[in-house]
Order: sequence, then structure tokens, then C-alpha cells
Amino acid sequence: MKPPRFEYHAPSTVEEACELLGSLEDAKVLAGGQSLIPLLNFRLAQPAHLVDINRLPGLDAIYERDGGVAVQALARQAAVEDSEVAAHVCPLLTAAVRLVAHRVIRNRGTVCGSIAHADPASELPAVLLALGGHVIGRSARGDRIIDAGDLFKGVFETALAADELLVEAWFPASSGAFAIVEESRRHGDFALAGAVRASGRLALFGVAPTPVLADPANPGRGLQPSGDLEATPEFRLHLVRVLTERVFAA
Ligand SMILES: Cc1cc2nc3c(=O)[nH]c(=O)nc-3n(C[C@H](O)[C@H](O)[C@H](O)COP(=O)(O)OP(=O)(O)OC[C@H]3O[C@@H](n4cnc5c(N)ncnc54)[C@H](O)[C@@H]3O)c2cc1C
Repeated sequence: MKPPRFEYHAPSTVEEACELLGSLEDAKVLAGGQSLIPLLNFRLAQPAHLVDINRLPGLDAIYERDGGVAVQALARQAAVEDSEVAAHVCPLLTAAVRLVAHRVIRNRGTVCGSIAHADPASELPAVLLALGGHVIGRSARGDRIIDAGDLFKGVFETALAADELLVEAWFPASSGAFAIVEESRRHGDFALAGAVRASGRLALFGVAPTPVLADPANPGRGLQPSGDLEATPEFRLHLVRVLTERVFAA
């Protein structure tokens, strides 16, 4: 299908992008487009304006900061996958990004876009949560740090305001034992369920409206996963138990 009509904006500075997001009604940021464009084509999203951030200069760095790795808004998932800084400081992030879709999608898709999109089955929001990382939201009002624990509010819903651009995600170093495991129908598919172990914490994805921290001794407690054509709620709860065992054995 063709996307619905929208007005296209291509700001050339971050300030201009923030001004647009602050002044336009019903605007969406366009980053890698790997989630947004399919949503437009299926008419599941019909924003009046698209603010394309791909021409913004100086927003694609991956660098060491405060004992972790900072990933700016236009750093592609493939660049993070290949980054020596990320591999050195936060090898969990490198391992997780390799589980996201296929390389051709990672060539365009951004780490920050995946976090802003907040798909419950996504790997990177769960990694951010397990590590206790944060994001920086920028608007005409200034910068705001949002901890991962406060960021994910629901299915495709975050604490970012409509006028805020997610300019950077910060992943603390993955010290100590860490691992990410998931179960999907085929390599590259979204996970039916997944588990991340980092910094003594367990985060689960694909089994609740947001990634969740869980008790390793009883990981399914309080969970009510949804069912769909690919997995029943009971099967997802079974996966939670199996994946928790695997992630701690890894
Ligand atoms: C076939 C296929 C398989 C996939 N498999 C997986 C998978 O296994 N795991 C997984 O995690 N993902 C998967 N994805 C999604 C992919 O990782 C996307 O790249 C990612 O979810 C979104 O990143 P993007 O840069 O493409 O964002 P876009 O598609 O450009 O944007 C997505 C949403 O985030 C918002 N947004 C983007 N960047 C910002 C920002 N800087 N500030 C504020 N809002 C922003 C947009 O407004 C939009 O609402 C898959 C995609 C495809 C097409």
C-alpha cells in the first residue's frame, strides 16, 4: 500500500528539528524508517508531518562516556554492531544488536529509533533496562535524562514527549556475567520471548507490554503475556522459564 499524505520536513540542525517538533501538530520523527515506513504503508500510523532527521550533522557518534557507551540518534544498528568501542565497553550491546532483524535492516535502522519505537519484542529496550541505562531527550525546553526504568510506558509508548527528540542512548558497561537469549521462529524474526542478564539483573522482552525486570528465582511471577498466531500465553510463560535458565547458564 501507499502511505497516507503527510508533509515532509528535512531540518538541517538539531535545533531546527526540535523547533519543528515543538510547533507542528501530529509530527513523527523519521530515523531509519525500518519500523515507521511499514506502519505508514499499512496505514497503521497516519501522522500529519514527518520530521526526517537523516540530514542532521554530528548525530551519529558512538563513544565512551561515564563508564558506558553513548549511541547518538543517527548511529545505525550496523555501525554499533561493528563498533570497537561498543564491543570493548558493552559487548552485551554488540551481542544484542546482532539479534535485531537482518544486516540489511540494521544498515538503516538506528539503535535510538528502536528504543523510541518501544516494540515490546525488541531486544535493545530490554538491554537498556537490564543495564540500567538512560536516554537523553532534547526539545526547545532543553535536555532531559530519562532512566530506562521510567522510559517504557506501554506497547509502542515511551515517556518521551511529542516535542522531544531522543538524541542519545547511554548503555553502562556490561561488567560481570552477561548474556542475551531469545526464541524466534526464524533467524531475524522478532522474538517470541527473550531474556537479558546484566549487572545481576534479569530483563524479559516479548512477554509484557514493555520490557520488564524479573526475579530470576521466579521469572514468570505477575506476567500475563498475550497470545497470538505464533505463541499462546502459556507457551510464552514456558519460554520465560526456559530462557531464564539458559541466560544464567550462558
Ligand atoms: C523485517 C524486519 C524485521 C525486524 N526485526 C526486528 C527485531 O528482530 N528486533 C527489533 O528490535 N527490531 C526489529 N525490526 C525493527 C528495526 O529494528 C527498526 O530499525 C527499529 O525498530 C526502528 O529504528 P528506525 O531507526 O528504523 O526508526 P523509524 O522506523 O524511523 O522510527 C520508529 C519510531 O521511532 C520514532 N523515532 C525514531 N527515532 C527517533 C528519535 N531519535 N527520537 C524520537 N523518536 C524517534 C519514530 O518517530 C517512529 O515512531 C525489524 C524491522 C523489519 C523491517
